[in-house]
Amino acid sequence: MKVILEVRWIKTKTALVKSRIYDIDYALNPYVGCQHGCVYCYARFMSKYVREKRDWGSYVYVKINLPRILASEVKKKKPGTVLISSVTDPYQPIEKKYEITRRALEILSKTMFKPIIMTKSDLALRDIDIIKKISDIEVGYSISTIIPMFSEILEPSTSPPEKRIKALETFSRNKVSTFVFIAPFIPYLSEESIDVLFDMLSQIKIDRVVVDTLNIRYGNIQDLVKSLNKLGFWEKVREVLASENLFFNYYSYIKNQLIAKAVRKGLRIYFLF
Ligand code: SF4
Repeated sequence: MKVILEVRWIKTKTALVKSRIYDIDYALNPYVGCQHGCVYCYARFMSKYVREKRDWGSYVYVKINLPRILASEVKKKKPGTVLISSVTDPYQPIEKKYEITRRALEILSKTMFKPIIMTKSDLALRDIDIIKKISDIEVGYSISTIIPMFSEILEPSTSPPEKRIKALETFSRNKVSTFVFIAPFIPYLSEESIDVLFDMLSQIKIDRVVVDTLNIRYGNIQDLVKSLNKLGFWEKVREVLASENLFFNYYSYIKNQLIAKAVRKGLRIYFLF
């Protein structure tokens, strides 16, 4: 079903927001909302800041003055790591038109700040000219599954997984540090393609893999149940989510499995759980 996108312009007071994420000093989010509309996304809590009642994925607020604010902040704030982005995708389709992310990167490229890009879109390749020039930059792609049918239902407007892998390969070939964020690792569903994914990642020589659990937060459960039911996985996922114990047991088992697989493929792996 085609989603009608509502686009608004807003002015932001801050571009570099202090981050509480480990090893990340600042978060930079060029947009509020995300037209990728992933069913498991918990960044949907951002809706309350813009008093938005529309469905997640159907609206985007463009921080139209962000490059100007950033240009002034980089002169005053202490350099550090900058996650682009933590609660939106900096390369969602609307970025093609507004180029807020591109302009932010141009500004950061002339400073000591270290950008860490996190996306699900191959539009990031558009900016490879700037990205290549920034020393210490990292480009990360979030991939929960590489099975196209699963991705189409769970992440309806993102670049298909094979395009994300191709983009990683291009960045890696151009000597840009790359990582894959398997987030969320969806019980049973992500397991289906993990061997093929690790195979591909070892061939393109990415720098590291980071894994996180499925997080049920901020009203993502309804969309998730609908989609996982469609794919025939909800009953199994529900069992994992039924208690803290079952959740812990499942992810402990997965952690051990992934460590063994990563070692076999020569991949460096880290976990957020
Ligand atoms: S791309 Fe990221 S921010 Fe956008 S909807 Fe998906 S999970 Fe959320």
